[in-house]
Amino acid sequence: MKHKNLINGKWVDAKSGKTFVDRNPADTDDVVGEFPASGPADVDAAVAAAKAAFDGWRRTPAPKRAQVVYRAGEILRERKAEIARDMTREMGKVLKETNGDVQEGIDTAYHHAAEGRRLFGFTTPSELPNKWAMTVRQPVGVAGIITPWNFPLAIPTWKIFPALVAGNTVVFKPASDTPKSGHTLVEILVEAGAPAGVVNIVHGGGADVGTPIVKHADTRVVSFTGSVETGRELNSIAGGMLKRTCCELGGKNAIIAMDDADLDLLLDGVLWGAFGTTGQRCTATSRLIVHRKIHDEFLGRLLARVKKLRLGNGLDPKTHVGPVVNAGRIEAIQRYVDIGRKEGTLLCGGAAVTDGDLKKGHFYAPTVFDGVKPSARIAKEEIFGPVLTVLECASLVDGIRIANDVEFGLSSSIYTRDITAAFRAIEDLETGIVYVNAPTIGAEAHLPFGGWKSTGNGHREGAHTIYDVFTEWKTVYVDYSGTLQRAQIDNIEAPKSRK
Ligand code: NDP
Repeated sequence: MKHKNLINGKWVDAKSGKTFVDRNPADTDDVVGEFPASGPADVDAAVAAAKAAFDGWRRTPAPKRAQVVYRAGEILRERKAEIARDMTREMGKVLKETNGDVQEGIDTAYHHAAEGRRLFGFTTPSELPNKWAMTVRQPVGVAGIITPWNFPLAIPTWKIFPALVAGNTVVFKPASDTPKSGHTLVEILVEAGAPAGVVNIVHGGGADVGTPIVKHADTRVVSFTGSVETGRELNSIAGGMLKRTCCELGGKNAIIAMDDADLDLLLDGVLWGAFGTTGQRCTATSRLIVHRKIHDEFLGRLLARVKKLRLGNGLDPKTHVGPVVNAGRIEAIQRYVDIGRKEGTLLCGGAAVTDGDLKKGHFYAPTVFDGVKPSARIAKEEIFGPVLTVLECASLVDGIRIANDVEFGLSSSIYTRDITAAFRAIEDLETGIVYVNAPTIGAEAHLPFGGWKSTGNGHREGAHTIYDVFTEWKTVYVDYSGTLQRAQIDNIEAPKSRK
C-alpha cells in the first residue's frame, strides 16, 4: 500500500515523487508498504504549515488540546491488536512486546491528557507588598520530532503527546525502518481532531529529512531518540543555533547479581532484560556483573535457558526472540562478536541464523560471552543486539564500580535480598533509572525516563518532567501598589553602622 506525507492537513506525495519500501525483517519478501522519500522542500512545507497553525493551537485551552490526545488514546486502545501486528511485521519484535509498545502509547495518552488540566506553574510571595508573583508554562513553537525504530509507536507518543498538550505544533519524522507505525499514529491524531497543520509527518531518511528539520530556523525545539553519533551531530547543529534539543541516546546497562540473589528471579530477569526486543532496547541488559560466589552455578542455569530460546517470526506465538531490524544490524552485531571472541569466552550464539524459515530474515542467535574484563570493548560499547557480556565482581563495591565504569548512564539493576546493599546501590549507581530485583527494562509512562553521562543531554521524557522540554517558563509580576516599588532596593533595610 502506498502512503503519503501529511502536510497542513492534506495527504501528499514527496515533492520529488520518490518513494521507499518498508520490509518485514522476518521475511524480506513481505512488503509492509511504500512511503514518500521526502527531502528538504517537503520539510520546508511541513514547518511552514506547523508555524501557521501554531497561533491557533497555542490559544486553544490546554484541556481542549488534551482532549485530542485523550481521543487518540481511545482509538489506540480500540486498534491495539491490529497496530501491534503491523508493528511486528515492520520491525520484528514478538507480538506480546508490540502489544506492550501500543499499551505504552495508550498509557502515555491518558497521562498527558490529564496533564492538560494541570500544566502547573507556581505562585510564591513577592518580597514587596501589594505585588503578586507567579509562573506559567507556555509552548515553545514548532517541535521537530525524530524517532527510532525499536519503539516505533511508544517513543513518538512520549514526544508528540506532551508537545501537543503544551501547545506546540509538530513536524514528525519516523525512522525509515518503521514508517508504518508512525504513520498510523498520525492518522489517529487526525481522526482524534488535531486541526490542519498541528501535526505533520514527513517520511524519509535521516540526512534528507532529519537534518533539515534540525537546521530549519523555524523549528524551535527538537526531540530525538537514537544513536550517540546522530545525537551528537544534531546537538552540535542545534547548539550553534541556540535551539533546544532533547536527546535520548545509548546505554550499556548492567544487572549486578549479588551472592544472596534469588537465582530463579535473576534468571527470568536476565533473559528478559538481555534478549527481549532481541536486545535492541536502549535499556537492554547488555552486562551481567555476577558475584564470583554464584558465577558458576548461575552461568550453568543461564546457558541452559538461553539455548532453549526459539528464534522466529514475531507473529508466531511460539517465538521467543524475533529478528533484528535490518541487515546492517546483523553486520554491526557480528563486528562486535568478532571483537568479543578475542576479549572473552563465547559460551553460545555468535552467528547469524539462516536455516529453514529464517533464511529470508535477519536473525541472530542469542549470544553470551563470559570471562570478560571491564576494560573490554564488548563490556563498554553499546552493541544493540542479542548479546550478553558477563563480568565477575568480588563485592558490592566492586560491582558498582564496574557498573559505573562506562560512558553511558541510562539504566541499572541489582538483585539482592540485603536491604542495605540495595540502598547503597540506589545511592551510588550513576544511571537515570535503577531497578531492585527487576531487570534494566520496564519504564512506566508517568515516571521520568532518561540517563546520565553520554546517554543524553540532561532532559527527561515521561512524567511531568517532559514539559521542561516542550514549554518555556514565563515569570509574571503584578504590582498593584500604585507606586514604583524597586525590588532589592525599596524593601531592604540599610545595615546599621557599627559603632
Ligand atoms: P540513528 O540515530 O541513525 O536513527 C535514529 C533516528 O534519527 C531515525 O529516525 C533516523 O532516520 C534519524 N537520523 C539518522 N541520521 C540523522 C541525521 N544525520 N540527522 C537527523 N536525523 C537522523 O540510529 P539507527 O537507527 O541507525 O541505530 C543505530 C544505533 O543507534 C543502534 O545500534 C543503537 O546503538 C542506537 N539506537 C538507540 C536507540 C535508543 O532507544 N536510544 C534507538 C535506536 C537506535 P533514518 O531511520 O531514516 O535513518
